[in-house]
Amino acid sequence: MIPPIASRFVAGETPAEALDHVAELNDGGVNAIVNLLGEHYHDRGPADADADAYVDLVADIAHSDVDACISVKPSQIGLGVEDAVFEENIERIASAADEHGVFCWIDMEDHETTDVTLDAYERLATEYDGGVGVCVQANLKRTRDDLERLAPLPGKVRLVKGAYDEPRELAYKKKERVNEAYREYLDYMFEHFEGGIAVGSHDPAMIDYATDLHEEHGTEFELQMLMGVREDAQFDLADDYEVYQYVPYGGKWFSYFYRRAMERKENLLFALRAVLGR
Ligand code: FAD
Repeated sequence: MIPPIASRFVAGETPAEALDHVAELNDGGVNAIVNLLGEHYHDRGPADADADAYVDLVADIAHSDVDACISVKPSQIGLGVEDAVFEENIERIASAADEHGVFCWIDMEDHETTDVTLDAYERLATEYDGGVGVCVQANLKRTRDDLERLAPLPGKVRLVKGAYDEPRELAYKKKERVNEAYREYLDYMFEHFEGGIAVGSHDPAMIDYATDLHEEHGTEFELQMLMGVREDAQFDLADDYEVYQYVPYGGKWFSYFYRRAMERKENLLFALRAVLGR
């Protein structure tokens, strides 16, 4: 069982607990993206096991009453082992997701994984007629070119600020410059994409910018935020827009919880209050 200290950010250890949380979100008008926690495996065994778990998860989602999609980290299903292991596992997951009518996102990790991740997305989004999405990062300078490549493809693209500490030659390091790039990339997406834009941010300024672009261009988009972060805003925004909550679950919850707790003072205070029982 997940201890109270982490339960704001992680839905549980089992798929059943995650889907219970999803049912509550759906009741409040929020959709869900379910993620099995795990990353950076260097052996095939755990990578294949997590891919199997995703194949089972999409069947569980299809046989339940909830609306949910999934999001998978490439290094969780073999990218750190061999590109071919990742390609085989993501194909297996995307095929099962397609069979069960469940949308499949691919998360983006550090810059060394960008090419192989986008190649897999291009192949699968075409093969499964847009039933697959990929994440791109505003802090990477290359993303403007990547968006040009992604614009004509079926599928969805999630724009985030970027969670990895990247080298200065490849990435914007200053917060203001990343925000400026986020706006520039949103401009491009709302102008050139036919739809399928996901705004993965908690930042009210980026969300307002995207809603203004939607008013201007009419391009369809969705908002995505993490479990435990600005949840009131998620439910409020769901009155007017399509909102998805990213819902992590699984036994490997500690490092994810630790990252969330450390990234903002409010998150840390919340965790401490949970320990103190107030
Ligand atoms: P920040 O720049 O962190 O904060 C800007 C403003 O947002 C703050 O000033 C505040 O007003 C508000 N805010 C932010 N956090 C809080 C909070 N806890 N409480 C209250 N207000 C807050 N990164 C990747 O590299 N690859 C991925 O695949 C990936 N997938 C993601 C999927 C989703 C659904 C989301 C939401 C993020 C994902 N990320 C991913 C992480 C992302 O790159 C950022 O690191 C993370 O979202 C923080 O940036 P931000 O845009 O939310 O806002």
